[in-house]
Amino acid sequence: MPAIDGQRVVADLKRLAEFGRYKTGVHRPTYSPVDVESRHWLAGKLRDAGLDPVIDGIGNVIGRNPSAERRLLVGSHSETQPYGGWLDGALGVIYGLELARAFATDRGCAELGVDVAAWADEEGHYQSFLGSHSFTDVLSEEEIDRVRGRDHGTPLREALQRAGLAGRPRERVDLRHYVGYLEAHIEQGDTLDTSGLRIGVVETIVGIWNYRVSLIGEQNHAGTTRMVRRKDAGVAMVRLATQIHDRFPEIAGPRTVWTIGRMLIEPNAPSVIPGHAEMQVQFRDADIDRLAVFEKSLHELVSEADRAGPCACEIETIARTEPRPMDPRFQDQIEAAAERHAPHMHMRLPSAAGHDAAVLSYRMPAGMMFIPSLRGISHHWSEDSKEEDIVLGAQIFADAAERILRSAR
Ligand SMILES: [Zn+2]
Repeated sequence: MPAIDGQRVVADLKRLAEFGRYKTGVHRPTYSPVDVESRHWLAGKLRDAGLDPVIDGIGNVIGRNPSAERRLLVGSHSETQPYGGWLDGALGVIYGLELARAFATDRGCAELGVDVAAWADEEGHYQSFLGSHSFTDVLSEEEIDRVRGRDHGTPLREALQRAGLAGRPRERVDLRHYVGYLEAHIEQGDTLDTSGLRIGVVETIVGIWNYRVSLIGEQNHAGTTRMVRRKDAGVAMVRLATQIHDRFPEIAGPRTVWTIGRMLIEPNAPSVIPGHAEMQVQFRDADIDRLAVFEKSLHELVSEADRAGPCACEIETIARTEPRPMDPRFQDQIEAAAERHAPHMHMRLPSAAGHDAAVLSYRMPAGMMFIPSLRGISHHWSEDSKEEDIVLGAQIFADAAERILRSAR
């Protein structure tokens, strides 16, 4: 069994968190100067671990084992959300680095190959999963031409140019080499923390379905337009939002979640009746049939509102990702490793957040494990995990990786 060096894992995580430090968290948007700096630092660490590192044309940092024919691909993403946490994707990247070092120095494991990846822009500063989509060949050059930064509208091409990545080839997956992909991450939710457990074995990464709902009314004077004559799109939106939040609990499964996270009214002025309103409705579940029921119900509510008037109501699908089951054999291997180091302190659970493992799972067997997030806080600078859980997770990750590699030969 490869032995990891827990203090080295924690030290590297703390060092990586220096790039863009903000309070106790990190502000490291994709392709920002600190993000680029951190990718070069990471490439250097991968080289020291005996891997051949490249930073490719989309910003993926990939360290390849120079000799092994069959390898396990491991990693996660290294940029953070705005003013986000220090662990998030960094945890899985540094676990991968430590795994490569542990294998290299263990005589029994030296022939086991791992490639370590830090995927670019999982967090979607430009577009979610850019790096893993590029690696798995579902990102075209035309799409790269089109994508713009979510905050400032900077063209992705310009960001790549500034990051010194323009013109570099993009690395593509070569399926002959890989037995699969393994990713570690903080749970982000509070399931492990509240149940006092230490490791989560991910069964499925949820599907995420997103819609834009528009209400079309009539913009007019807020004083002179009598109430009976109004077509107030703002009122129509708030009513519909209430109906959605009333209906969804009746059809929800134990872990379905839904969010209306974005609302706009136009022209958004105190003395003008809103003529147009728009909201985005999102729901997530691991069961595709349940997602379909939610979609049907949302469409029904929208057409009921449209028929009832006075505002017209339209719905448009923005994006729908399928729930992605993780490989059952990988789940068993992670569970066996967890049982060895933390008997009865682990559980299987779905991932309610999207991850690169979902993208990779279309091309190879994929698995994921979680460590607890304190109070279930993430995507916030106060995100944290116990040091003993970080260290335990690294050891279980290494043990699981060895089991997967040995059973695949
Ligand atoms: Zn993440």
